[in-house]
Amino acid sequence: MKTTRKVAIIVREETSKTCVGKGCLNAFYQKIDAFEKYQDESLELVAFCDDGGVSEDPIENIRNRIEKFKKIGVDIVHVSTCIRAKSPIYKEMLVLFSKEFDVMGYTHGSAVRKKSMHHHSQENL
Ligand code: SF4
Repeated sequence: MKTTRKVAIIVREETSKTCVGKGCLNAFYQKIDAFEKYQDESLELVAFCDDGGVSEDPIENIRNRIEKFKKIGVDIVHVSTCIRAKSPIYKEMLVLFSKEFDVMGYTHGSAVRKKSMHHHSQENL
């Protein structure tokens, strides 16, 4: 018997001004990249939203998302690859989401963050 798990994808507000989410959605529907591990599972995408962007209290935006996600029964949160690449509160987001849900720290592309703000890392492309 197969249960369907509910997924939320959260993306970077600034990036969503120019990105329609194709990479995230493609990875979800094709079950590739960050979604490859759910090959044998049934998933339902129940939320696709931004992180609330830059504000005086960006963590408050995340807490609001968490409350909504809980209301709609989200099981798994995927924090987008653009958040991983650019958000100063990426790590805090992972910690907060992980208190309530299963969390994955990216959506499409490499499982490993290629660049950090402070050092060069090896890129094997
Ligand atoms: S992770 Fe990629 S596809 Fe998803 S919103 Fe960010 S830039 Fe767009």
